[in-house]
Formats: sequence, structure tokens, C-alpha cells
Amino acid sequence: MSKNIQAIRGMHDVLPGESPHWQYLESRVRGVLGRYGYEEIRMPIVEFTELFKRSIGEVTDIVEKEMYTFEDRNGDSLTLRPEGTAGCVRAAMEHGLLHNQTQRLWYQGPMFRHERPQKGRYRQFQQMGVETFGLAGPDIDAELILLSARLWRELGIRGLELQLNSLGTAEERARYREELVAYFSAHAGQLDEDSKRRLHSNPLRILDTKNPAMAELVANAPSLAACLGEASTAHFEQLCGLLDAAGIAYVRNPRLVRGLDYYSLTVFEWVTDQLGAQGTVCAGGRYDGLVAQLGGRETPAVGFAMGIERLLAVMEVQGVLPKATRADAYLVLMGERAQQAGLALAEQLRDQLPGLRLLTHCGGGGFKAQFKRADRSGAKVALVLGDDELERQQVSIKHLREDVPQESVAMNDLAQRLAGLV
Ligand code: ATP
Ligand code: MG
Repeated sequence: MSKNIQAIRGMHDVLPGESPHWQYLESRVRGVLGRYGYEEIRMPIVEFTELFKRSIGEVTDIVEKEMYTFEDRNGDSLTLRPEGTAGCVRAAMEHGLLHNQTQRLWYQGPMFRHERPQKGRYRQFQQMGVETFGLAGPDIDAELILLSARLWRELGIRGLELQLNSLGTAEERARYREELVAYFSAHAGQLDEDSKRRLHSNPLRILDTKNPAMAELVANAPSLAACLGEASTAHFEQLCGLLDAAGIAYVRNPRLVRGLDYYSLTVFEWVTDQLGAQGTVCAGGRYDGLVAQLGGRETPAVGFAMGIERLLAVMEVQGVLPKATRADAYLVLMGERAQQAGLALAEQLRDQLPGLRLLTHCGGGGFKAQFKRADRSGAKVALVLGDDELERQQVSIKHLREDVPQESVAMNDLAQRLAGLV
């Protein structure tokens, strides 16, 4: 017997039992984004490989070893997007969204990285992200953080820690880079293979190592803050002041560098200690240089992306996911005539009560079998239509979750009766 084909490692199906959680999270997030005036943008899942090399940076984990890159039939090198910012910037430039205007955009969709699959780390995962363009001040940085804090509040997620840092300007980072190279060179014996390779190509990346054996070395590395100039420091202090005024708690983490090269000034992460090693549920920052780096005019930009699987995992741990049922009412149909009339009745109810989720029994069968399905559907009530009821133009309502006596309702009054129930 041949083996059945299975899903690719690290790529998961969202099954019917889970999709209500996804829908709930997505619709709550969409709602909040709309209340802040953010507009949705949808980009293709595949882009030219060059786009990611030029934006994320050649010497990053993502570009070096995580991208799904392939040649298409024309010989073009294409890549399944590993993140959303590069494509969003590309689209905004291509369609003139950045000329003398500000933008507040959001996107959502699957991202692809060939990482080692583990809990909270997948090869296809879902992000919702936010990008703003044309706004240079710390006020928009603060708004983004307030927006994310509101998301956690409204989703009922507790205990996330906000970590903040400033990466300064490219010049300031260049100075810092020299200090880092000197420090790590002096401790070359303690560097792992990846870090040795990065020592000269991209030493800041060493700070982002996930290798516990390097933790102490990294903790004692010189701090970027000392290399920041006046303007960068002022931007950061103003942001901190705005967050203080808004009552948002944060932790300054001078080692926070992020895994992508395009960031400058503000970077931040929301972290939980409830998911083990994969604790970052949302990450972002400012990337003022990226638009110009991709050939556009200098445009300040700042954004963040949330990992939806990780957010759902935290919500699961904290017990704040809503209990999902697939139906409010289940229509039980006994007999041939009732089956015919039942379809029409169901349509009528859906016309009259657009909020009602009504499952109509299909496939015949006895009372017992139909009630079993009604129960499994999670519906509050079963509506019973048999030949008797049909004769009297009535429907019986049987409560499935509550100890309430069965009642008979005239078909014409049914919608009104159900309106109070569901
Ligand atoms: P990490 O440090 O965990 O590798 P990252 O810095 O690579 O994250 P970003 O590129 O900033 O992550 O992506 C933003 C968010 O997307 C992360 O904070 C995380 O919640 C989520 N994310 C990133 N990679 C994965 C993945 N492979 N599987 C699931 N979620 C992910
Ligand atoms: Mg990563």
C-alpha cells in the first residue's frame, strides 16, 4: 500500500475546530485597526528574490538560510515571502502611495521560512502587520505601541512585556559596529560558528543569537545606547515620555536588535514567558532607510508584525479564547413532507433572522440520530418539524442545553420566538 501524502513539515492545516479562534482574533484585530484609521493592503505571496535580499539584508538568518527560493519557468528567481514589510514597501512605491502623503496600512497572510519546526516556530505561519509611511516623529511610534497594547487588552491577553530599544542611525550603528567587533574579537574563543562568520559581515546579528551558550558573552557586550547621537537619543526619550504619559509599562533592552537589517531608531517586541523559547508575539520598529534603499525617495516608516499562531497559543494558555459553536439552532426533519417544507422554512428563517446560525438536518434518519447531531453541533435548540407539526403549521422547540420544557410555536411566530433565544 502506498503511503498517503501528508502536509509539508512545519506547515499546518487550520481545522474546523480551530478556525473560529482564528476568525475571532482576525476580526477583533481588524476592528481595532479600523478604529485607528488603518487601511488594508494585500500583496502577492511571491516576490522577486532580489527584493528580500535588498531589504532584509544578505547576512541575516532569513536570507542566508530560511527563504523558499526557486526559479520559475522564465528563469526568474522568486521567493515565497518570509515577511510582509518588503512587499508592502514595494507595493506602496510601485503605486505611488508614498508621494507627499502619509499612509497607515495593515496586511495579513501567510509567511514562509525554512526554519527548524518546533512549538511556535513553523515554516508557514501567519502574520498580521501594520506599516506607516511618511511619519518621522516618536508620536507615531507611540501610537503603534498604544494600538498593540489595546489589541492585547481587548483580546484579554495579560502579562506581555514590552521591550524597547533604539538602534540609532546608520552612522551611529557603524560606530557601534566597530566597538562590537573589537569586543567579540577579544573573546573570539567563545563565539559559535554562526557568530564567527558574522563577526565581520554583520556583527550586530551576534546580539540576536538564540544560542544559550553565548548569552553571557552577549550580555556583557558594549551597549548601543552609548553610541547614539543627540537626535536619536531625543527621539527615544520622547517615545519613552509618551509611553509614560499613556501609562504603558516597558523595559529598556539594550540588546534588542531584531533579525532584519532594515531597522533604525525605535525597535520593540512584545514578549511572553508562557510560550517557552518562542516568546515574542509581536515585533517591530522604525525603518527610515528602507524606501530609499529600494530606490525610492527618503521616507520615514515604522511598523510591526504579530505572529498569529503565537498569539493564539498565549490566548489558549490564558483561557481567553471564546467557546465556539457552529450553530444556534438545528432543524430536525421527520418524514418526507417535512423535509421538503423544512428547506423552505430554513430559508425563511435566514431571511428573517440574519444573525441566526441554522443547521438543517440532511440525509434523513430517525429522531435519535438527528438529535445526536443536533447535540454535537453545539446548538442551543433543536427545531422539530414532523408531519404532525406540519399539519398544524407549528414547530416544536426543544432546548438542548437548558432544563426548559419543550414548546410548540406557530411557524409564523418562529422567527420572533428565536430572536429572543439566539
Ligand atoms: P524570532 O526571534 O522568534 O525568530 P523574528 O525576529 O524572526 O522572530 P519577525 O520577523 O520580526 O520575527 O516576525 C514577527 C513575528 O512573527 C514574531 O514576533 C513571531 O511572533 C512571528 N514569527 C516569526 N517567525 C515565525 C515562525 N517561524 N513561526 C511562527 N511565528 C513566527
Ligand atoms: Mg526568526
